[in-house]
Amino acid sequence: MNKTVLITGANRGVGLALTVAYLEAGWRVYATCRDIARANELTQRQSLFPNLTIVELDVTNHDAILHLAQSMASISLDLLINNAGYYGPKGYGFGNTDAEEWRKVLEINTIAPLKLAEAFYPQLKEGTPGMIACVSSKVGSMAENTSGGGYIYRSSKAALNSVVKSLSNDLQAEGIITIALHPGWVQTEMGGPNALIDSQTSAVGLKKVIDNLTPADSGLFMDYQGNYLPW
Ligand code: NDP
Repeated sequence: MNKTVLITGANRGVGLALTVAYLEAGWRVYATCRDIARANELTQRQSLFPNLTIVELDVTNHDAILHLAQSMASISLDLLINNAGYYGPKGYGFGNTDAEEWRKVLEINTIAPLKLAEAFYPQLKEGTPGMIACVSSKVGSMAENTSGGGYIYRSSKAALNSVVKSLSNDLQAEGIITIALHPGWVQTEMGGPNALIDSQTSAVGLKKVIDNLTPADSGLFMDYQGNYLPW
């Protein structure tokens, strides 16, 4: 039977490339985006892949998350990829933190992944095994932070890493594997044109890492090449 994955932020960047990678591997893919009318690169794939279902979802809308999970109640979910992310304001530093933007970044990068995990927990329990992959960032690592700055984005991903660790402990008994992943520095709207790799390289690498996960990897932080990262 085909495996099933739900991917957030699937209309562009790493999320779109992950969607394509899983479709090409024959998975049933539920791809979410905020606005289907603006998701041309994603909707184009629909005629090629009958196993693609596109769903509108703003991940900060908790009622919409619950509604989506209810509409998918009969589906066993093998993988939830919390990919949607937001950097927040760029070019700021110590001294002028925009607290409103910080709250927004936390809503998207930290709170939404946990709300999605909670809502889809019944379906993930039916997965073989169920896995939750949270697209984090190396800049959320305390050990890697030698340059300072980036208060908003760094703290949102560090908090996401903490969420991953708790999920891995709490859901271990159900056989659900939870992992934080660094996608590399990727040429996307967020990563910019000078980034080191394209989104396909990142997605293919992330998929390979996820394909090879074992229960022993739950609660770890890995990059798209399978290297373990320090918290
Ligand atoms: P992009 O900026 O290219 O894409 C971000 C995606 O997140 C878009 O699909 C966007 O949708 C979606 N999104 C943003 N806010 C919301 C929301 N409220 N609800 C639903 N979807 C939302 O980023 P990347 O593809 O580069 O990033 C993917 C992930 O990888 C993110 O979690 C990011 O933090 C992480 N990452 C990226 C790196 C890089 O170098 N690119 C490095 C390290 C980590 P919309 O089009 O509607 O805005």
